[in-house]
Amino acid sequence: MSASDVPASHPRYLSLLRRERIVCGVERGVTSLHGLIAHGRGEAFDYLIGERTHLFATGAITAAAAALKGARHPVISVNGNACALAAAELVALAEAAGAWLEVNIFTSSPPRELAIRTMPLDAGARDVLMPSQTHAIQHIDHNRKWVHPEGILTADVVCVPLEDGDRCEALVKNGKTVITIDLNPLSRTSRTAQITIVDNLTRCLPLLVQAVREAGTAPVDPVPWDNRKALAEAESVMRQPQATVSGPTAN
Ligand code: ATP
Repeated sequence: MSASDVPASHPRYLSLLRRERIVCGVERGVTSLHGLIAHGRGEAFDYLIGERTHLFATGAITAAAAALKGARHPVISVNGNACALAAAELVALAEAAGAWLEVNIFTSSPPRELAIRTMPLDAGARDVLMPSQTHAIQHIDHNRKWVHPEGILTADVVCVPLEDGDRCEALVKNGKTVITIDLNPLSRTSRTAQITIVDNLTRCLPLLVQAVREAGTAPVDPVPWDNRKALAEAESVMRQPQATVSGPTAN
């Protein structure tokens, strides 16, 4: 049975739809098998926040929108899970923020990198940068050090949804302002990024796109953001026995 067989009134409808997107991503060669495990971890944390967008996330969205709008050269890094779940929303964010999209994955696989690139292009992206074999960021050894010279290499603000801690740390050490989207407030990525949106990628991206659009074309001042405090709030909500049914939420 697939999610398309499940009525939208089903209590797990959205969750089933997300699972189906990830499975389709594997079938299309976009998402790795390891990506299924990462998705499962995200689901568990989403359950603990009641699968809702909380105030610690909307605050981070406001700060992230300001950082993207105020950036000289913003780039959105995309991997197999992010594309499978939200290719169209990533394209909308890139358009709204005037940012480049750039493919970056954990294990070198040119066919998978090309398959990932196809999804945002099919969703209307004007272009999607690929990692070069000539330019690398420092402080990281494996495949993810490779970047595009006009993309992440020279970016000042990088949005890296569903990222791994090593790369997030390397980006920060390379002087980038890093925005991440990660349901796990305990992950190294969440703790290393300057702005962490603890929310499901599929729920918060439309809100982030809207916030960036609302910022308009006027110069944007940075929004002061205490990431540690927001992560502590997220963890505190998750530790409440009743977290799945209550807690301050934005929707
Ligand atoms: P780290 O190295 O940062 O400690 P990790 O190695 O545990 O992290 P990965 O498996 O590389 O993390 O990345 C997956 C992360 O993305 C997990 O923290 C998971 O909770 C989160 N995640 C998975 N699906 C989603 C989603 N749909 N929305 C937001 N976050 C998600």
